[in-house]
Amino acid sequence: MTLLDIRLTSSNTIPLDGLPSHVGNTPLIPLRRVTSNLPARVRIFAKAEWFNPGGSIKDRPALNIIQTGLINGDLGRGKRLLDSTSGNMGISYATFGAALGIPVTLAVPASASPERLTLLRALGAEVVLTDPSEGSDGAILKARELAAERPDLYWYANQYNNPANWQAHYLSTGPEIAAQTNGQVTHFMAGLGTSGTLMGTGKFLIEQFPHVQILSMQPDAAFHGLEGLKHMPSAIRPGIYDESFASGNLEVRTEAAHEMTLRLAREEGLFVGISAGAAAVAALQIASQLDEGVVVTVFPDAGYKYLSDKSLWEGK
Ligand code: PMP
Repeated sequence: MTLLDIRLTSSNTIPLDGLPSHVGNTPLIPLRRVTSNLPARVRIFAKAEWFNPGGSIKDRPALNIIQTGLINGDLGRGKRLLDSTSGNMGISYATFGAALGIPVTLAVPASASPERLTLLRALGAEVVLTDPSEGSDGAILKARELAAERPDLYWYANQYNNPANWQAHYLSTGPEIAAQTNGQVTHFMAGLGTSGTLMGTGKFLIEQFPHVQILSMQPDAAFHGLEGLKHMPSAIRPGIYDESFASGNLEVRTEAAHEMTLRLAREEGLFVGISAGAAAVAALQIASQLDEGVVVTVFPDAGYKYLSDKSLWEGK
């Protein structure tokens, strides 16, 4: 069953054609120039997730969480969808909330980039700003507090603990990678935020191809500039995350991710966000250990939401 099948089975009651039907099926793009030092039989591919209608990979879990909420009957009866987010998940909720007529309230750290906050408000979401020094954990605690105070008003989507998050990737990202690589994928690596991308895509791929190595990536320190990613040892642990699932974990420095983000723009024509830069750093690290292989990762979003970080784009 794919996301589209779920959409079709539920279409009697919920109008999920139109915008939601364009989520997923993103291009798989080969890196060609930043990989020039690799052996010829080692290739790196990235899913271009900014091709989703809401501009990021989070369209997949947001849509699946909304769908399961609607199907189970909890959502869509006047309640507001509530969640915490560092930005992208909120943009996806707000996008589909607007398209489907579901009101959205989001707890967001005040440190989120101004582009993200403006986007959320443009899409009509109610934004509750939380203490920037508490990062995404502060937003999680605020959402829990609001959900506990007003269960009559809010439907708590709870992306960190909701299985519909990783299941979206099991149903879409995983099968797409299997098909787009003709089953040739040897390594899959994803950065950890909620861990939904890693857990869902990884679970599908390992079931199909037991030899595939699944690897996680995270920032190397508690205080980092990799928006969307979590340093797991110092963060509230997502309920959907199983630390023993991946066969290895790579740590990426913020500066290395910044440099690579600029290289992707200038050498590949890929104007992507910082977590995509981090993914490329880690993918190159994996690829440099191989004689042959197909390393696949995801580039979660484009660079537009990070434009206010001028030092990043102008380089040294
Ligand atoms: N990169 C960016 C830019 C993100 O917004 C997110 C989601 N927080 C991720 C990576 C990580 O994805 P996931 O939540 O599926 O682990």
